[in-house]
Amino acid sequence: MTKVLERPLAPWAEPAWQHLRALRAQPPAALLLHAAAFGDAEALAERYARLLLCEAQAEAAPCGSCRGCREAAAGTHPDLLRVAVPEDKREIGIDQIRQASDWCSRTARGRHRVLRIRAADRMNRAAANALLKTLEEPPPGVVIVLSAQRLHALPATIRSRCLAVALRQPEEGEYERTLEQAGLGAERVRAAQARTPGDLSAALDLAAEDVETVEAWQRAWRQGVEQGDTLQAAAQLSETDWPQAQVWLQRQVVAWAREPGAAALLQPAWAALMRLRRMESTTLDRLLPAEEVIILLRRAYTALSSPPRRQPAP
Ligand SMILES: [Zn+2]
Repeated sequence: MTKVLERPLAPWAEPAWQHLRALRAQPPAALLLHAAAFGDAEALAERYARLLLCEAQAEAAPCGSCRGCREAAAGTHPDLLRVAVPEDKREIGIDQIRQASDWCSRTARGRHRVLRIRAADRMNRAAANALLKTLEEPPPGVVIVLSAQRLHALPATIRSRCLAVALRQPEEGEYERTLEQAGLGAERVRAAQARTPGDLSAALDLAAEDVETVEAWQRAWRQGVEQGDTLQAAAQLSETDWPQAQVWLQRQVVAWAREPGAAALLQPAWAALMRLRRMESTTLDRLLPAEEVIILLRRAYTALSSPPRRQPAP
């Protein structure tokens, strides 16, 4: 049975998480989680919803293995409803909240029914008024978890009926350090900052994608440089994010060049890599030049009298 992997929690979400965990046995009818970065509030709200639905009665975090955890992650749990801004709309509308309120009044399979309202600060006025009715008389066992970035965008009447839990602000440099500790190199930290400023959850999503890509590069390296299947390796590399793949290849060569006797042997491969870097090309155009790089790396690999049994660095 596959286990649902729990994403690491941002250090600045940790105090809020401890607070939520303490509320596990007797959760309030409505919670409002808010953070400067929306993804962080979202991640926490999702984790708390899963903790409430975990059938293993896990204390620290959802167990990830039980029926409740797996169904919640797959989006099929009968006691979990997520409401969000529809993709083709800009706000959460009244119909969505009315349907959610009906859902709340049905019988739970387990102890709780959890209604998650993502980006609650984007409910329109009618939707907020409809939600207020449910918040005034919440059905027993129902836990409504709102997440929001702009607290002031929520009506005071809603805020006053929720227990508000705020994530603290990351300290200076804490966001960058956390990404680096999660295994992202400096370049990827910069890329993550550019694409998802300040939002650790979103950055970790990117990082997870990256791990698969790096594994594909490592396979290509073994296949081409160590086993001599150079064309196949070049094809594999060309199909991935090519600018990133080149940066990775450069790092491999630089690291390898530090080994005794390797620098001179790697010179031709390095030159070919630099030529390739200057090329603005389509996948097809770069296949042969990429193979040339692999062939030259392969040559260096076999020329070293005792080729290092080196694993490509991550
Ligand atoms: Zn569980």
